[in-house]
Amino acid sequence: MKITIPHLGNVYIAVKILFDSLGLDYVIPPLNNREALLWGSKYSPEEICLPFKLMIGNYLAGIHEGADTVLLVGSCGPCRFGEYCELQMKILQQLGHKIDFIVLDPVKSIGLCELLHRMHRVGAYSKKTRMRKLQSLFMAYKAMTLLDDIEKEAHWRAGFEKKPGECKRLLNQCRNAVYSCNDPEKALALLQEYLETIQKIPVSPERNPIKISIIGEIYTVIEPFTNLYIEDVLMDMGISTSRHLTPSWWVKDMLLKTMRLNSRELLKASDEYLPLYIGGHARECIGEAVLAAEEGMDGAIQIFPMGCMPEIVSKAILPSISRQKNLPILTLVVDEMTGEAGYMTRIEAFTDLLERRRGHVYIGS
Ligand code: SF4
Repeated sequence: MKITIPHLGNVYIAVKILFDSLGLDYVIPPLNNREALLWGSKYSPEEICLPFKLMIGNYLAGIHEGADTVLLVGSCGPCRFGEYCELQMKILQQLGHKIDFIVLDPVKSIGLCELLHRMHRVGAYSKKTRMRKLQSLFMAYKAMTLLDDIEKEAHWRAGFEKKPGECKRLLNQCRNAVYSCNDPEKALALLQEYLETIQKIPVSPERNPIKISIIGEIYTVIEPFTNLYIEDVLMDMGISTSRHLTPSWWVKDMLLKTMRLNSRELLKASDEYLPLYIGGHARECIGEAVLAAEEGMDGAIQIFPMGCMPEIVSKAILPSISRQKNLPILTLVVDEMTGEAGYMTRIEAFTDLLERRRGHVYIGS
């Protein structure tokens, strides 16, 4: 078995640690790029959402490198994500690829036994002991959490840093250093070191930068290629950003969902505007907007792929939150046709507005 995965932010680094630790043969496809989007768009239904197309592009790159199995997480609805794997299997089949799919659906939908069975299918190819397999899972989760913490620190501290560009430089250096390390234990130690280094970056607390919350559809807020690297752009502008939805948040949310203990704070915050679950992470998006206002953020940017059903509902609710909570919100809809220039102009116009609302001219880094 040679296994491959679709991309989602930094998840590939945690997955590499997992596969290295299990001693599995794998292919990590190149990071999302124009080529993946081109191939994905070519073979996907035109009206399907952007994440689907990029995933197809990732699989094709993995298959090109010899992968014969795809590992991905799934959901059984209610939005299109629930149909992703079935449709993707069909497309690859029609293209003449004999590919096995291992889909990790939520416990709530398939039951714990079935989930363990599917996980066992991955582990069965590893010659490691059962204890080592468990350790590997733990290490991958730990890596995912550390990566999320590092990103969170870097994105927030970028607005306060004394040396402009330091947070972004360290964040990129961290990703490269950990990804090129083939020893899982050393990779984890490196992540811990980078977290401590980023936490010690000299900052000016008196700086009071513009603060923006990034909200919206989970794939497009996490995967930088789809949002045209918005967090990097805002870091370059000396703006602090925060985002609740991360890969480790997703794992925790999925596990706690079985006991209805997931994301209590976000869901409670969304109750007034959207008390029902309508698929995707629409409720979380609404909850994040409410919390952004309560936490004193200057504004929020909602990002979602063209045609994303749950986020279209959120988009219709956000103006009420904006008015009632006095929180400016910008919505950016992305697809394979998104032009960089127009996108940047909207971000710049929004940050100008936030600066003017504060009644001072903000000097970026
Ligand atoms: S949440 Fe939106 S973008 Fe994601 S699969 Fe569902 S419809 Fe598509």
